[in-house]
Amino acid sequence: MSVLVYIEHADGKVKKTSLEAVSFASALAAQTGEGEVVAIALGTVDSPELASVGKAGASKVLHADDVRLNDGVIQAHASAVAQAFASVGAKTLVLAKSSLGDAVAARLAIKLSAGMVSNVVELPKTSGGYLVKRSIYTGKAFAESEITTENKILAVKKNAVDLKTDGAGASVEKLSVALSDSDFASKITSTERATGEVLLPEADIVVSGGRGMKGPENWGMIEDLARVLGAATGCSKPVSDIGWRPHHEHVGQTGVKVAPSLYIAIGISGAIQHLAGVNSSKCIVVINKDPEAPFFKAADYGIVGDAFEVVPKLTEALKAE
Ligand code: FAD
Repeated sequence: MSVLVYIEHADGKVKKTSLEAVSFASALAAQTGEGEVVAIALGTVDSPELASVGKAGASKVLHADDVRLNDGVIQAHASAVAQAFASVGAKTLVLAKSSLGDAVAARLAIKLSAGMVSNVVELPKTSGGYLVKRSIYTGKAFAESEITTENKILAVKKNAVDLKTDGAGASVEKLSVALSDSDFASKITSTERATGEVLLPEADIVVSGGRGMKGPENWGMIEDLARVLGAATGCSKPVSDIGWRPHHEHVGQTGVKVAPSLYIAIGISGAIQHLAGVNSSKCIVVINKDPEAPFFKAADYGIVGDAFEVVPKLTEALKAE
């Protein structure tokens, strides 16, 4: 018996969230004695990337290297994963919580008659069924759900588990799957690539600016800091509403929800709707000239000061590192 993990990738690289899913599956397999962890990757992925999945705890990667699987063909992915699930004799599928992950998992829940829980934050209690803790209300509360079906699907929240990096390595096997025309009945025909060097939803570090930045002409400061840190840039809602920054950078309840290792908020007051999008961050640093700004209550580190003085100094200090 195996635990199967569905791998997401972009530009040939395996996403960190999928490596977290493999790490989670590895710990789960050790807990339940469910045997080996097998990962499945669909479409074009760089070979060294596939092997690296082994460091996160998979012993085997099944790779269907079919270019038709590159284009957001969710139904085809669900069909391919269902076939692999049966062939490796899995009872549990683990994947990363994401738009794609949820879309594939929902279809698989039907195909496999599996109970599914999304936004999982820790290993389930596994005596009998699975008792699964998940994050709800944009990270403000937790719920426990029980899966009683034989087949189970768990979508793991970003940053909820530590990344395993000492796995023994994985063998990569070619996977051929039988797909029909109906599996390709719908596909994503074009996507708009967000600007910036690092994509916001995936970013491990985010530098975000608010109305305190006074205007779009001052964003060079935010971008400089982001560049030094290898970070994505974000902003508060009013900033994108006014048109200082594009809408896809808007972070919060009504925008992108991020869960980076480090979130730096500059000139953002910390309204509850903004916090709803950042409260899964591992470490929050706030730079604000108002010591009473509500964001400081949610911060791990705070700098009370004028962003126009603090940020360039911070960038220079980091460059000098
Ligand atoms: P402000 O509230 O104007 O704060 C600016 C901050 O900059 C202040 O704290 C000020 O002290 C500081 N500042 C000023 N000058 C400087 C300086 N020189 N140096 C350092 N600091 C300085 N907002 C979101 O962000 N995301 C959402 O998803 C979102 N969804 C919403 C949904 C609803 C239904 C509603 C009603 C509101 C939503 N909002 C959202 C808006 C939210 O309530 C706040 O109005 C918004 O987050 C405030 O943005 P801000 O912090 O950039 O601006």
